[in-house]
Amino acid sequence: VVRMRGIVKRFGDTAVLDGIDLDVARGEVVTLIGPSGAGKSTLLRCINGLERVSEGSIEVGGQPLRYDEKHLNQLRARIGMVFQAFNLFPHMTVRDNIAVAQRDVLGRSRGDAAQRAQDLLERVGLAHKIDAYPDSLSGGQQQRVAIARALAMDPTVMLFDEPTSALDPELVGEVLGVMRDLASEGMTMVVVTHEMRFARQAADRVVLLADGGIAEQGPPAQVLQRPTSERGRAFLRELE
Ligand code: ATP
Ligand code: MG
Repeated sequence: VVRMRGIVKRFGDTAVLDGIDLDVARGEVVTLIGPSGAGKSTLLRCINGLERVSEGSIEVGGQPLRYDEKHLNQLRARIGMVFQAFNLFPHMTVRDNIAVAQRDVLGRSRGDAAQRAQDLLERVGLAHKIDAYPDSLSGGQQQRVAIARALAMDPTVMLFDEPTSALDPELVGEVLGVMRDLASEGMTMVVVTHEMRFARQAADRVVLLADGGIAEQGPPAQVLQRPTSERGRAFLRELE
């Protein structure tokens, strides 16, 4: 679903990403870990065209990424993105938060969009909050609405950038639970997270990004327990 080849991303003279090759297969769950500043967010932002790569090529769903506005809008309609901050529209109910892009971007009818919102809210355990406004919800609930909103677009891939790092510890589990369900239902996901629990339980592959490159990748048990690179061992020591 995602194919990246020779990705270089420079900010000024500094190559934050320096030759990344990464494939994500349909239904695969890839967890991206690495030290702060390693370029994890930048890599995600390159996938949906929020950042323009300096070199290299990216394909999403078999289509090469181009940076004209029309193509970018089509691309972003197919990529769900969930950030650390929930970014819900404060003046809209939960239903409208989930329905608005379905209507405006996908052209769904008001009724269809509202029905889909209802179905997705049931899936994330928040059907009873459909008429609520975001500021009346907990952080964990808001993040689950943000996930439902992304899913409403029927994305080919979901990108998560530290979706639980702004949450109080007791709210992390409910969001990770929704993400685990998604993973087991076969959603293609790229997840930047410091939650090694999630990586261990739900990831097919863990990719350790460091010094502009992929220092280590493989099944969670390998990367998180028996890293082969010095960089991998150093990163794991810091986690403990
Ligand atoms: P964290 O774990 O702290 O979120 P990260 O791995 O997501 O880190 P990035 O946010 O991708 O790291 O940043 C990688 C590097 O690129 C950092 O040194 C950052 O300062 C730099 N950087 C990111 N965005 C920009 C920008 N728009 N302009 C200049 N430098 C940037
Ligand atoms: Mg980041």
